[in-house]
Amino acid sequence: MAATFELKCVSCKKPISVDDRFAVVFHCPVCGHKIARCGKCRKAGKERVCPNCGFVGP
Ligand SMILES: [Zn+2]
Ligand SMILES: [Zn+2]
Repeated sequence: MAATFELKCVSCKKPISVDDRFAVVFHCPVCGHKIARCGKCRKAGKERVCPNCGFVGP
């Protein structure tokens, strides 16, 4: 069984590949929702928005 990330980037909504070493996963400081962002969007400096509560990170 292969280990796969069932994570989607909050910015571009694309599934994040396990090969994406620049991807980041963190928890929303407000509601604790898991937020993932792909390396591409991270480099682009896009805001991280919690899809659950709407919190916008720096
Ligand atoms: Zn993305
Ligand atoms: Zn949240």
